Amino acid sequence: MKHSSAFLIIDLQNDFCPGGSLAVPHGNEIVPVVNRCLELFAEKKIPVIASRDWHPARSSHFREFGGIWPPHCIQVTHGAKFHPSLHLPSNAVIVSKGMDPERNDYSAFRAMDARGMDLEQILEEKGINHLYVAGLATDYCVKESVLDALRLGFAVTVISDAVMGVELQEGDSQRATKEMTATGAKMRSSHDLGV
Ligand SMILES: [Zn+2]
Repeated sequence: MKHSSAFLIIDLQNDFCPGGSLAVPHGNEIVPVVNRCLELFAEKKIPVIASRDWHPARSSHFREFGGIWPPHCIQVTHGAKFHPSLHLPSNAVIVSKGMDPERNDYSAFRAMDARGMDLEQILEEKGINHLYVAGLATDYCVKESVLDALRLGFAVTVISDAVMGVELQEGDSQRATKEMTATGAKMRSSHDLGV
């Protein structure tokens, strides 16, 4: 089957980068890599979808209300904005998740666009059957998104130098990578994408 691909950028937002409230160490360092990929994919006319964490101020996802995380990516705040150096094309589809105060929504497949279409419906509409994946964090939202994509029947290539883990426990990213590849994801460096 011929691959029809999209590029999924997961949660590359200020709060997940150094200086943010839930910073992934060195999370900002993937931005130039993602930008290089965006240039490459623009040449190939590969559509771009960017997910974002988009929480209300009160969410059971946050420590203060029973969750495990400090407040982050609260709707319309600076922390919820995409990293300022990320060169998202104007026609990128933005999908948001985490709006329900009772849900964690790690996976981009819980996200929806401005029309209320979820990611799976958007990909179906575009005839996509393969995803290139980049973003934050390898051991949470990237992993959950990739596992959901595989479960739903999409082929997945994770761009290995365009993801970064939060590593609450040392080795989490490595374990996440193992789980993704064991489930069927391919890992490729941005220098070796072969698109
Ligand atoms: Zn969140």
